[in-house]
Amino acid sequence: MKLESLKELYIEELRDIYSAEKQITKALPKMAKAASSPDLQAAFKEHLEQTKVHVERLEQIFEQLGTSPKGKTCKAMEGLVEEGSELMEEDAEPEVLDAGLIAAAQRVEHYEIAAYGTVRTYAELLKEKKAVGLLQETLDEEGETDKKLTELATSLVNLEAAAR
Ligand code: FE
Ligand code: FE
Repeated sequence: MKLESLKELYIEELRDIYSAEKQITKALPKMAKAASSPDLQAAFKEHLEQTKVHVERLEQIFEQLGTSPKGKTCKAMEGLVEEGSELMEEDAEPEVLDAGLIAAAQRVEHYEIAAYGTVRTYAELLKEKKAVGLLQETLDEEGETDKKLTELATSLVNLEAAAR
């Protein structure tokens, strides 16, 4: 399909992040299961609930645009999820695995932060005010999650792994 306008690119990018979020809702329960630290398990579970809301916000935006969120596969997220799966298959000390899970999750968050920053800006340019608000809310939550993962990594998981 030929992209003729910023609006079309905006919709394509929204479909990409929609696919990414759907993939994350499937990956996060597995990551929570694989984590040993109760704090990390809780963080993954909390972000799963947030992620379900991220999907709903995107669906609201698509409804307003009068078009379907489906039709695109986020290949970048497929790759990130695949790397996470490979990690979970490794024979690893629990604390070391936790550190690796945090690293994998932060890659996902940074991808999302980049993607949401872009679509939020496109929505501003296109004067899609309601979408700007919804996308900004999600962007803020991705940022908070990233910060929380950094705190978990430094305060607990990486230190425990280093002590082995
Ligand atoms: Fe998200
Ligand atoms: Fe996220």
